[in-house]
Amino acid sequence: MMPAGDSVCLLPLGGCGEIGMNLNLYSHAGRWLMVDCGITFEHNPQSISGRPSIQMPDPQFIADQCQRLDGLIITHAHEDHIGAVPYLWQRFGCPVYTTSFTASVLRRKTSWRGAALPEPLIEVEPGSRHRIGAFDVEWLPLTHSTPETCALMIRAGGGRILHTADWKIDGRPVVGNPWQPNHWQGAELRDVDAVICDSTNALKPGKSPTEGDVADGLLQTIAPLTGKVVVACFASNVARLQSILRIAHATGRRVGLLGRSLENMYRCALSNDLLHPDFRPIDPRHLEYLPAQEILAIATGSQGEVGAALHKLGMDSHPQLSVAEGDTVIFSAKTIPGNEAAVARTIEYLQARGVSVIHADSSRKVLHASGHPCIDELTALYDYTRPKLAIPVHGEDSHMQSNARIARASGVPTAMTGSNGDLFYLYPTPGIRRRWAPVGRLEWLESERQLRPVTMGA
Ligand SMILES: [Zn+2]
Ligand SMILES: [Zn+2]
Repeated sequence: MMPAGDSVCLLPLGGCGEIGMNLNLYSHAGRWLMVDCGITFEHNPQSISGRPSIQMPDPQFIADQCQRLDGLIITHAHEDHIGAVPYLWQRFGCPVYTTSFTASVLRRKTSWRGAALPEPLIEVEPGSRHRIGAFDVEWLPLTHSTPETCALMIRAGGGRILHTADWKIDGRPVVGNPWQPNHWQGAELRDVDAVICDSTNALKPGKSPTEGDVADGLLQTIAPLTGKVVVACFASNVARLQSILRIAHATGRRVGLLGRSLENMYRCALSNDLLHPDFRPIDPRHLEYLPAQEILAIATGSQGEVGAALHKLGMDSHPQLSVAEGDTVIFSAKTIPGNEAAVARTIEYLQARGVSVIHADSSRKVLHASGHPCIDELTALYDYTRPKLAIPVHGEDSHMQSNARIARASGVPTAMTGSNGDLFYLYPTPGIRRRWAPVGRLEWLESERQLRPVTMGA
């Protein structure tokens, strides 16, 4: 099934009306282009392990016509954009395009899962432009909370579509180039036909702090401490790793990485020369030989995940480090909605051991920065690009409605919101066909090592 005529269309199968599991399809001239293929973590109160289930969009619609699929582009290495590739790529069999760092992450993910690595896996330089079947795609570097994230300028049939993916305006990103107005102000970005845009923080006024602000906040927090310090953060935030490595150097501490995903992301960052060579972590098995005031560990588990390094520290079952009275754990991450109870439990375990806990959500210092644009940043985007059409995605309904209001207030003549399965006509004439394609979710069953459909409402 294809949209009629020569229009350029967008069909989201995931991530439109929800935060997580992004999967977008663009169509033109009888061909499809997929942008991102991610997962989401669903909490099931009945789960015995306490672990959320891994879910992803049901890709049947596009898998059934994969001979029409010109390629899959992964915009960046976050799970909600890359995570489903090891589970689903074999159903598409198409070329995969991404930047070098994200390709490194994908190699590690597929090999760890024992899944097939996409072939061909084509590494793209940020700033470069490639013909992918019926589509001409330019990778536009921008700032986000993981390296080498790019927006895409998709040209097809005379139309110019800007797919922002996840972004923010960060003038001090710590790793990678700072955001600069000319990222968006070039003549090529003016008066685009449509912008497909991140809505995650569209209800938040102002602008998000920079990674540099977070580094300042962490340094001020850590400098006066005298016991062991553990910082919990998202493993994919390589800038945060870099900041903590620098802070350790400045405060006479050595860094150990606790957790497999941190170790993996560190290796990917290292192999792509993203980290300053003067600051390196030590083998975490050597941490406990150091005096307490020289220990700075970075740990996984900021969302209270059972079995993650921070959870083990709370249970005093971590093989490489123990924490007690006089030590401090800093959550350099926000709590994702749905994880509040798990995070609270982890904090209780740590406090019961006498550990001081500082959380970014309740600290007056900046200890975390979101990677998504707030209202002022969205307004700046619409001012720079002056699109004819705005389609908010990457958010729940309230986020997308707010993003659409911001677009209209910025002078964008048409802003449309919809849901997964709706077909948006982008160029030459904007329009929408509701419930055009079937949508659903698949869930990964680890015990059976297979996917099964999720029954909605169950
Ligand atoms: Zn995302
Ligand atoms: Zn992201």
